[in-house]
Amino acid sequence: MDNDVRRSFETLAIHAGQEPDAATGAVVPPIYQVSTYKQDGIGGLRGGYEYSRSANPTRTALETCLAEIEGGTRGLAFASGLAAEDALLRAVCRPGSHIVIPDDAYGGTYRLIAKVAEPWGVSFDPVPLGDIAAVRAAMRPETVLIWAETPTNPLLGIADIAALASVAHQAGALLAVDNTFASPYLQRPLALGADVVVHSTTKYIGGHSDVVGGALVTADNVLGDQLAFHQNAMGAVAGPFDAWLTLRGVKTLAVRMDRHCANAERVVALLAAHPRVREVLYPGLPGHPGHDVAVKQMTKFGGMVSFRMASAAEAVAVCENTKLFTLGESLGGVESLIEHPHRMTHASASGSPLEVPDDLVRLSVGIEDAGDLLRDLERALG
Ligand SMILES: *Cc1c(COP(=O)(O)O)cnc(C)c1O
Repeated sequence: MDNDVRRSFETLAIHAGQEPDAATGAVVPPIYQVSTYKQDGIGGLRGGYEYSRSANPTRTALETCLAEIEGGTRGLAFASGLAAEDALLRAVCRPGSHIVIPDDAYGGTYRLIAKVAEPWGVSFDPVPLGDIAAVRAAMRPETVLIWAETPTNPLLGIADIAALASVAHQAGALLAVDNTFASPYLQRPLALGADVVVHSTTKYIGGHSDVVGGALVTADNVLGDQLAFHQNAMGAVAGPFDAWLTLRGVKTLAVRMDRHCANAERVVALLAAHPRVREVLYPGLPGHPGHDVAVKQMTKFGGMVSFRMASAAEAVAVCENTKLFTLGESLGGVESLIEHPHRMTHASASGSPLEVPDDLVRLSVGIEDAGDLLRDLERALG
């Protein structure tokens, strides 16, 4: 990872796109809760703003900041992560197109591709992305996109971004990386060769479980223009208040991620030593199949931890017995969450090739006191 860029991450998160307001000097970009803008004569736009679906200053601040912290040139903010994914799919796919997706993709991504895109004539193959030979074998002349997620939700699988980029580019396809789990603080896919980064900003970037949003970031100006065209033509944009809340979250991303990672490491140590836990899934563990790749492309291993119990009943019991870890979907907020992916976040993948094991528990380790978190888990594990 480029050292100069790494050093300035924290500064960019606080300042990129966030110059003090020209009119008042407000140090935080105001919430421009407005739909339209006065024109100084027809077409005489002030700063390019004409209608807030096309552009809004609060959203511009967020989009600029996201582009810079991902090392891209164009950031686009959407109403949700899935709205961002939809815009990307519709911009790059046509009837007859083929996509390679992870065999453990996020359930909502799978549902979007299998239930919405496929009926419009887009085919796909789920492939274990850790196996580069399998990915290469899945490429077809019609393949326009490799969709990667790393680490994956909820199995914490790791894909080699640089290797996937070269497979995609040799085949004339693009590589999209869903960077939601790592966040740009831990991993920067564009620098590793990816063409576009996808985020559910609902998660670590927003960071406070108070806003739903999504983003696309690219360093390719042609693709950036296509995505911006689709953002405006389809219209699923982030509203001004949502953009403002998300930008407020971004400012502390680095300090939050440091604490998420430190707490996750303590949780992993406890789980790995616990007799009732059958297996801990965390890319920071040397025995994890993607550990070496994770070391190469991530600065730390993140705040998400999954583990398997002896049975579905035991997994459910742990989920229902924590007090501090709140039983709930979503992830990446300051508060710790626990869930049962098979029946909750990934229920939409049940019966599909992407079905997740029913003895799996997923933790989003928050930034509370680590000792309190460990005591809660220990008690729930009984
Ligand atoms: C939550 C999530 C999404 C979808 O984002 P929304 O903001 O819920 O629409 C996409 N990818 C991953 C990895 C996620 O965790």
